[in-house]
Amino acid sequence: MNDRPTVLITGGAGYIGAHCCRALASAGYKTVVYDNFSTGHRSFVTGPFVEGDLRDRSTLASAFAQHRIAAVLHFAAFSLVGESVVNPQKYYNNNVAGTLSLLDVMREAGCNRLVFSSTGAVYGNADSKALPENFPCEPINPYGTSKWMIERILSDYRQAYGLGAFCLRYFNASGADASAEIGEFRENETHLIPRAMMALQGHVGDFAIFGDDYDTPDGTAIRDYIHVTDLAAAHVAALKLLMEGHVGGTCNLGTGSGFSVREILAAIAAETGREVPSTVKPRRAGDPTYLIADPSSARHVLKFKPTHSDLVTIIRTAWAWHKKAHPLKVSV
Ligand code: UDP
Repeated sequence: MNDRPTVLITGGAGYIGAHCCRALASAGYKTVVYDNFSTGHRSFVTGPFVEGDLRDRSTLASAFAQHRIAAVLHFAAFSLVGESVVNPQKYYNNNVAGTLSLLDVMREAGCNRLVFSSTGAVYGNADSKALPENFPCEPINPYGTSKWMIERILSDYRQAYGLGAFCLRYFNASGADASAEIGEFRENETHLIPRAMMALQGHVGDFAIFGDDYDTPDGTAIRDYIHVTDLAAAHVAALKLLMEGHVGGTCNLGTGSGFSVREILAAIAAETGREVPSTVKPRRAGDPTYLIADPSSARHVLKFKPTHSDLVTIIRTAWAWHKKAHPLKVSV
């Protein structure tokens, strides 16, 4: 048991990182979380962890020295589209410079396997068609650009230094672990599903639909929602391939179908029996009309087969988590 590979999970205290951490442990890996707890939750971390920032090379290097790290799952990043538009420096500095620091330390430590948390936001504004990985990447917000820059860097490092790297482009991560012990919640939550649920619970008083004048059937923007448990399974599959010597690649992680903001709100109403109180506000800067994945490559390479990403399971598990995590201010 002692020679199980150890995986460093940057951002392992965050929503997706914490789910992946549990999935890796169930798959037999040892895990060490590396997180500065700027947005993550200490309560999500149950195993060994090192508190530190990616840009703090000495703390990062000592994490590698202390644990024999065989591979890295790299989640640590800021990830809010709207915030990235008004504060791009924060995104380029943390996401891009932080990743360069991580890559330096990995090279010094002789660790050359990485699974990178990328995003469908690298594609920018697309039409209603499902996007394959070779669709041109023209991100329309600094968050997406920061992830695209990192993808380019990883590709160059793969060529020059033999880094094995998978870039997993998630579409809209959603839902929560079946235990309802971990789920999606940030200090300033801006994502649709958690924000709508917090509005139902009475924690958010100004929930709005951002734009009902999009060129979509009901006028609201359309996204491909993928359950976090399915994302976690894809990470375990990517890591296994890297451990077997695979050079890596780029895969979309989505379902191939999209739902509008209004369809999501209707699904929440159906699950909870309550309409989310909302107003309509102008479009949010940086938001594309459609983002839908073509997941064929993940299906082929990672044997990716979402089993939790139907809308009912997404909403049901997210609601179970919200009910447990946040005491209600209003009765639902
Ligand atoms: N959205 C909304 N109200 C909110 C939060 C989000 O109408 O309070 C919309 C947002 O404009 C986008 C969709 O919901 O069209 C998904 O946004 P989210 O922030 O969840 O994810 P993103 O696609 O930006 O990563």
